[in-house]
Amino acid sequence: MGYRVAQLSHGFAVKNAEAERVSPVFPDKEGALDWLLTAAERRAPRERPCLACHRPFKSQGIHDRLCPHCGLAASVADTTTHSRTAAPPRRPRD
Ligand SMILES: [Zn+2]
Repeated sequence: MGYRVAQLSHGFAVKNAEAERVSPVFPDKEGALDWLLTAAERRAPRERPCLACHRPFKSQGIHDRLCPHCGLAASVADTTTHSRTAAPPRRPRD
């Protein structure tokens, strides 16, 4: 993980391995510790049902909603249908 609760001059905050503050500043250590635990919970890979086949798989995060099998199939389908149908316009990047 590399995250830890650090005492600041004006409170407590969670810092990462590079000593960068990644959480808000809390007035007490418990607040920072609580944030760290919930953040770790949010970040940790967990079992989610695949959006396509509904089988649980180890999701890498909230953005990761297809199991490896369906994610692979989707990317393959993407390239094979490319010649038949016009590709949707790409969203401009910020
Ligand atoms: Zn799937």
